[in-house]
Amino acid sequence: MTWLVQPRLVNDPFSDPALFIDFRFGRRALLFDLGDVTALSARELLRVTHAFVSHTHMDHFAGFDRLLRLCLHRTAPLHLVGPASFVDQVEHKLRAYNWNLLDEDSLDFVLTAAEFTGGGVGGSCEFRAREAFRRRESSLPLAPGTLLEEEEFRIESVVLDHGTPCLAFAFHEKLRINVWREGLDLLKLPVGPWLNEAKRAVRRGAPDDSRIRIRDDLFVPLGVLKQHAVRSARGHRIAYVVDAAFHASNVARITELARGADQLFIETAFLDEDAELAAERRHLTAAQAGTLAKNAGVSRLVPFHFSPRYIGREDQLRREVEAAWRG
Ligand SMILES: [Zn+2]
Ligand SMILES: [Zn+2]
Repeated sequence: MTWLVQPRLVNDPFSDPALFIDFRFGRRALLFDLGDVTALSARELLRVTHAFVSHTHMDHFAGFDRLLRLCLHRTAPLHLVGPASFVDQVEHKLRAYNWNLLDEDSLDFVLTAAEFTGGGVGGSCEFRAREAFRRRESSLPLAPGTLLEEEEFRIESVVLDHGTPCLAFAFHEKLRINVWREGLDLLKLPVGPWLNEAKRAVRRGAPDDSRIRIRDDLFVPLGVLKQHAVRSARGHRIAYVVDAAFHASNVARITELARGADQLFIETAFLDEDAELAAERRHLTAAQAGTLAKNAGVSRLVPFHFSPRYIGREDQLRREVEAAWRG
């Protein structure tokens, strides 16, 4: 079965974080964090519809300018979500530039920024190129714990404590649906856009006697398709956790968010021998990250966001996180 998205860290684990989540079908991508994104091509960055920013420490947000620079030349909107105070900070970023060449004849590029404070998305604003990025209040009502809800997937979030609110994210594919070619042949049905309608019907749990239209004179019951040609399985879950103190409330939130994840990308900032320093800076150690992954029962662990103090000692960090995970 193929996954809906392919996530990949943009940089080596010592560089500023960004996770690029590329959709396998369709020209679209998401970003978790906007650290150093220079390794992404313009073509890749132009596919980004949403960027979710954990917090605005510079190592997680400095890539904003490059993304904005490219998006100025497109009409598709760019949506940003971050923690409390994020909308003001995006506005300040925009105000740092002179937009005197923009007017109502400019390309209609829209940037939105929204804040997530735990209960749901809080304040949100819109900035339009045609209005020289003047701030406009808007409203973006969403269910608590959810940053984005679409037909095929949902982005969930929790607020962690890092001395400042820091968001952790999960990409949750609702249901993985695959079409079995041999089954279609058996039913003598052609491949075509009608399959998307069939997949949608499976995803929303439509009854087996629902009629799926293949062409005007050809319908097939959903139950027959499910029996022979369309298979569904649990969706893919990817969790992303950075910059968090290791204490009870963070541990509970991280464990809940990462529970059963197929992949967990987690900061591994310090070695456990430097646990005191990690606590002071409100970061995780490798042993703590591994323990969290173990408690959440994740299938695959990807440690990253290593402190530069360990350059040349990367193996030690990896061994420590691995040992705690395997328990
Ligand atoms: Zn930070
Ligand atoms: Zn950081």
